[in-house]
Amino acid sequence: MNQVDYLRISLIDRCNFRCQYCMPEGSELDYILKQQLLTDAELLTLIKEVFIPVGFTRFRLTGGEPLLRPRVVELVEAITSLPATQDISMTTNGFLLAPIAQNLYDAGLQRINISLDSLDPHIFDQIIGSRGRSRWQQVWDGIQAAYHVGFDPLKLNVVVIPGVNDHEILDLAALTIDKQWHVRFIEFMPIGNSELFGDRGWISSSELRQQISDHWGLTESQVCGAGPADVCQIPGAKGTLGFISQMSECFCDRCNRMRLSADGWLRPCLLNETGQLDLKTALRHGVSTIHLQEKVKHLLAIKPEINFKGRDSGTTGAYSRTMSQIGG
Ligand code: SAM
Ligand code: SF4
Repeated sequence: MNQVDYLRISLIDRCNFRCQYCMPEGSELDYILKQQLLTDAELLTLIKEVFIPVGFTRFRLTGGEPLLRPRVVELVEAITSLPATQDISMTTNGFLLAPIAQNLYDAGLQRINISLDSLDPHIFDQIIGSRGRSRWQQVWDGIQAAYHVGFDPLKLNVVVIPGVNDHEILDLAALTIDKQWHVRFIEFMPIGNSELFGDRGWISSSELRQQISDHWGLTESQVCGAGPADVCQIPGAKGTLGFISQMSECFCDRCNRMRLSADGWLRPCLLNETGQLDLKTALRHGVSTIHLQEKVKHLLAIKPEINFKGRDSGTTGAYSRTMSQIGG
């Protein structure tokens, strides 16, 4: 059985972008009220007294947009200072990154993933739902800042949407040639915007891989990721290409993670809501962290049965919650 030692923590469900595939403009989201968010102290208690003792060692901070969380640098520092946290990473849209990249690095953040769905500012703005001034340059500045500060690996996440950014696959893949950047293509899932998904459909990783391979050839990467991506390289490239195929391939058997929402729900599977635990309410009612450890251990034990396959609608159905709410 796979060791589940990786927790994705949503710091906040809000976002300063409205990506078409995630939380499009006009979609009514019930944001978590401030008093319902886990406080910094509650989050640290859960990591220190519940998750680390039951075997979690790797933590990814995400959202919504994690950089919107007040005092995010201090929070990162407090998490990285906890003993037994081996690996702290973050997934961000990069918009607010440039001025605090160095501070995050100094606070102990080791790895960073930045979403970049297009190299064309106009298309980028369409995807993220930006009106008015283009936001592309500021995100690009964030990526450059993260690179110069020394985040390693530096990963760029691309969600491929047919007819929107699929003509840029080779240009995005080419970013890995001269710099040690790792571009990861993510299959578009019917989560967040099922209408767009219905209109556009999705492109499989094998199709993308073929396109890149036809152009450059591809070699298996020496760098092996611990996550769900299949990793390979353009021959001679400094960086790597990863393909995350949650639509075309079921990697439930390799799943090594759980998710904690910003309001403290522990979720064993991205797309299956069975078994979720409300850790925040338990904490606020004075339930001991020893007791919470037992609950989490039980969830770990039954996790193999809670997976995508266990859902009634299979992987082509639409899901009621967005990635920003779950903590993608
Ligand atoms: N705001 C940050 C960002 O965009 O990187 C972190 C949160 S976002 C929910 C995390 C990841 O989920 C991003 O890489 C995003 O592209 C991905 N995502 C969101 N909706 C998706 C969808 N419908 N299909 C595939 N990936 C999705
Ligand atoms: Fe925000 Fe990230 Fe969702 Fe885009 S993908 S709307 S940046 S949470």
